[in-house]
Parts: sequence; C-alpha cells; structure tokens
Amino acid sequence: MSGVFTDSHAHLEMVAQRLGVFALDGVVAAYAAQPGALILDIGVDPGDLGRRRALVEKSLAGMAEEPGAGPARAIELPIRWAAGIWPGREALDNPKASLEALERDIGAEIDALGECGLDYHHMDAGPEAQRELFGAQIELALSHKLPLIVHSREAFQDTFALVQSCARHIPTIIHCFGYGPEEADSFLRAGCYLSFAGNITYKKSQPLRDALALVPEERLLLETDAPYMNPMPHRGKPSSSLDIERTYQVVSTLRGLDIEALRISVSSNLRRILGMSP
Ligand SMILES: [Zn+2]
Repeated sequence: MSGVFTDSHAHLEMVAQRLGVFALDGVVAAYAAQPGALILDIGVDPGDLGRRRALVEKSLAGMAEEPGAGPARAIELPIRWAAGIWPGREALDNPKASLEALERDIGAEIDALGECGLDYHHMDAGPEAQRELFGAQIELALSHKLPLIVHSREAFQDTFALVQSCARHIPTIIHCFGYGPEEADSFLRAGCYLSFAGNITYKKSQPLRDALALVPEERLLLETDAPYMNPMPHRGKPSSSLDIERTYQVVSTLRGLDIEALRISVSSNLRRILGMSP
C-alpha cells in the first residue's frame, strides 16, 4: 500500500520553494494516483490563491503530458483550496486592503477559509489588531458558509473566545493543535475539529498525545503543515505531504487503530468538512 494519506493542511507553494518544483510534481502525481487522498492547500497571504493554484495546475498539466497518460483523465483533483490571512506584520499593517484581497479570492471559489488566527508567540502585532483581523475573517467564513482553519499559538483563551460560537455554525478546524488535554476538551465541547501535525511524534510532545486521546474519531484530522513540522526522524528538515505517513503510523499506534482504518476516517472527515462525496 502506498504511503499517500490525506493531508489536511499543507503549503504547497512553500514546499516548491524549499524542496524544488520537482518535489511538488512528485507530491501531486502521488496524490492523483491514490483515490480518495486529498491535500488541503492553505493560504497565508492576502490574494495568494491565484499564484498557488497556477503552480499546482502546472504540475497537473505536466502529468497529463506524460507518455501513456492518455487524454484528459477523469481524475478527481487531489488538491483543494483554502485562502486566508496569517496574522503577520504586512497584513496587520493594512487590514482593509488585505481583507479586500481575501474577498476576491473567496469570489474565485475556495473550499475553506484559512489559515487565520492568533499568534502570541511571534507577536507581529498586538493582540488587539490580531483579534480584529481574525474576527473579520470569522465573519467572512460565516457569511460564505465556509469551513474555518484556525492558527492558534500561545493564545488559547482569546482563540477560544472567538471560535466558541462560530464552531456551532461552520466546521472549525484547530490546525497544528499545540495545547494540552484541557484545551482540547474545551475546543471539542465547542464542536471544533482538531488537526495534529508531525510534532505529535516529537519526544517532548506528551501534552499533544494526551490531547489526541480525547478526540472522537469523527473530529480527528492529520496534517503536515508542510514544509514545516517534519515528523521524526526528520525533524528540522523541510517536509512535503509525502512525509505524513510517519504521523499516521504514530497516531494509529497511539490510538490502537489499524492505519488503513485511520486513513479512511481522516479522509472522510476532511471530505465531509469540505462538502465532498464520501
Ligand atoms: Zn500552516
């Protein structure tokens, strides 16, 4: 069985920047060949959707030109698209222009809104400016009925206060979950999905493993956050979606679940969130 598993959160453009376009071609080809496997490609900059899409479409077009590939195959596109604004300096300096660019990307049809949220670790701008930009994106997700992908670092209280009510109306994913069991419990009670990344395989990540134990199967997602968070033993090196197998292995062992069963449940959770057929 191939090592291709649904990846709920990757930055394919950054993968191409860090590992080269050939690496991206390899990822796209592998996912196109594995029925049901998906990558949700995540935005961080205002208006970055067109650029990201063009890059992946180039990889797909390259595949179609391969000898023996035949005419336009009826394959399901293995990549889905999110767009959102990460709480970074540039976006926070120009929130109005950033949100207008995001609205144009929403108009170009996306599958989810994100990533957006609060990062009190990097603290590119004060909490108030971050909360405002995050709140505006929650409103956009609600009005367009889009699933929301939430980045939250060292900002549990404020994140929770903002997502608590929206999680009842739209699928709300806490991506690269980075807290412990107590915070997991609060997010789960609010109706959120928790998505775990490669750092769950790191030695010091016991709080993440304790949190994982609380997540019902239908609320669990797994991701690479590629090119970051490479699972052990390649911690620190740039990752791609093809590194996710090691995260699936560790999580399946921790949950006492067959890896194939885990593959199916994570895929069907993401497909359901994105409104796709099972
Ligand atoms: Zn990310």
